[in-house]
Amino acid sequence: MPSAAPRFCECGRYTVPAGQQCPCAKRRKAARGSAWARGYDSDWQAARAAHLATHPACVDCGEPATLVDHIVSIRKAPHLRLDPTNFASMCASCHGRKTTRVDGGFGR
Ligand SMILES: [Zn+2]
Repeated sequence: MPSAAPRFCECGRYTVPAGQQCPCAKRRKAARGSAWARGYDSDWQAARAAHLATHPACVDCGEPATLVDHIVSIRKAPHLRLDPTNFASMCASCHGRKTTRVDGGFGR
């Protein structure tokens, strides 16, 4: 059985199993502009890819990272959106935990 690594969707939110379409593809087509308008544009995609290339491990658990988290939310610090010092490579499960923690009422 081929074991191609899952790729990460350009939307920055989903890991896509090899050979499959991102679950967000339809939604993105329907609402093009929403995620991108919030700042996840091509500049972010490039910065994110560069960060993952140089910081391939999750900062929390050391597993291979699949996404880049903003240490300080870009809602709170939009000027740090493309600042590498505000980037943290994370795996999906650690990021999920962080998102729950941070967005769960204890903003930082
Ligand atoms: Zn992790």
